[in-house]
Amino acid sequence: MTECGYDAAKVKTLTREQFFQREKDLGKQRTAMLTCMTCSDTARRWGRWGDDPRLALQREIEWERGHNYWARARDDRGQRLKDELFAIASLIEAHREEFDAFIATTEQRRDWLEKKAALDQKRPARRE
Ligand SMILES: [Zn+2]
Repeated sequence: MTECGYDAAKVKTLTREQFFQREKDLGKQRTAMLTCMTCSDTARRWGRWGDDPRLALQREIEWERGHNYWARARDDRGQRLKDELFAIASLIEAHREEFDAFIATTEQRRDWLEKKAALDQKRPARRE
């Protein structure tokens, strides 16, 4: 499905990567003439999992639930994400130690990198 809701098999489509490449090649104005506004906006607004999973997840949540958090959740888009989140929580509970160890490792690595960066800053700049 396209971002604006068309069956992707029935319309001409491009991937996120192709879209950003098109913007680079043709410029924003020409790209705007060639590309659906809803799809362009969505591609620009949301991050990818690899860049920041929080943004990718937020996008999925708003698509399935609707983006007015105070209103009743819409129910015309199924409940797949909700089911998946409950499944993830159950899997985490079943593997609690492994999960906690993974988080601890990630925190330690981030800590180490921050200390290393701070040390590198203190070191006097080398003359080339
Ligand atoms: Zn579109």
